Amino acid sequence: MKKFTHQPLLPGSTLGVLGGGQLGRMFVHQAQAMGYFTAVLDADPDSPAGLVSHHHIQTGYEDPAGLAELARVSDAVTTEFENVPATALATLAGERPVSPTASAVSVAQDRAREKAHFVGCGVPCAPYAVIETAEQLQAISLDLLPGILKTARMGYDGKGQVRVKTAAELAAAWDAVGKVPCVLEKMLPLALECSVIVARGADGVAVHLPVQRNLHRDGILAVTEVYEQNLPPALATQAVAAAKSVAEGLQYVGVLCVEFFVLQDGSLVVNEIAPRPHNSGHYSQNACDVSQFELQVRTMAGLPLTQPRQHSPAVMLNLLGDLWFAQGDMQQTPRWADVLALPGTHLHLYGKRDAKRGRKMGHLNITAATPETARATALQAAALLGIAPF
Ligand code: ATP
Ligand code: MG
Repeated sequence: MKKFTHQPLLPGSTLGVLGGGQLGRMFVHQAQAMGYFTAVLDADPDSPAGLVSHHHIQTGYEDPAGLAELARVSDAVTTEFENVPATALATLAGERPVSPTASAVSVAQDRAREKAHFVGCGVPCAPYAVIETAEQLQAISLDLLPGILKTARMGYDGKGQVRVKTAAELAAAWDAVGKVPCVLEKMLPLALECSVIVARGADGVAVHLPVQRNLHRDGILAVTEVYEQNLPPALATQAVAAAKSVAEGLQYVGVLCVEFFVLQDGSLVVNEIAPRPHNSGHYSQNACDVSQFELQVRTMAGLPLTQPRQHSPAVMLNLLGDLWFAQGDMQQTPRWADVLALPGTHLHLYGKRDAKRGRKMGHLNITAATPETARATALQAAALLGIAPF
């Protein structure tokens, strides 16, 4: 495996990324702002990141020639997508420094391994059972019901999840997902959800962004709020410590998001990890002196990590494709000019050609001098865009 040297890759080098979605696009923008060249591997000629990168290798993640080309043009490689085949990362690691590593990504790709890792780190997660066989299904403890059956692999934005109340519903749900490996998680009484972005360098130095409070709607992140007192301070401290120990346990290099549930009794439970920048960290682009994408650049280039400082209270609104549809199927353009007339609004759109319901098209960061003003402006923007109040 190509090790990190003690010499950082300085601007002028080329940074490569597997995956051409919006996270790759924002990574590319940040890398270019710092004077790097970029390479994106994504089969889609219109991929958001491919459209703005110096190099765009238009092949699948398993294409040996594409991977070889990515390794040839890049001085280091990262990923923006956790479902890239771990073998692709392992192949690239023979040629170039790759962060995060194939082994860390493969833990995040598999809910069963991910949960085992949490248990190993002593960080509490929801009670769960792995279901890979009919025998395991039969043996499920009824204590786990009502629960959520989640496919072990390839889930995102609430996809691959079925809520079940009874053993019969569970059996039907496992049938419906094609009897693929799953975990059944006990349905927990949530008070709120939060997440922490950690960045860890090859030298073991770890820094973090402030704890994000997240609101999901229909299994998709809708709103993130970050300011002092967005959740009880003791809980925030606990979440940061837990996130760091999850990263440490993986010997992680790169940007990691750790998602948590806060239960109605006030206890903190880890939900899942994403081995990359995360939607809930987007506010850092406008509210922090170092964004999560700069942290990704710094970790992969072996540059020093300094503890980021949030300089403005922030709210992030996700802009889903639904906003492009008025009543029924009539297309409309969201009222950008009216939204941007509100002080402290920062529009980020991902350059996707077609709006579809549920598709992440962009986000709006709102910054202000106080949390109250940030929230009030965000609510005004939400009303203009047709996003329900929060
Ligand atoms: P993403 O990758 O977009 O974060 P996902 O598809 O991986 O989402 P999860 O994070 O597992 O899905 O779950 C999506 C949402 O469903 C959670 O944010 C939470 O609101 C709810 N949820 C998931 N598991 C539980 C649980 N055990 N108890 C209560 N609610 C849950
Ligand atoms: Mg999630």
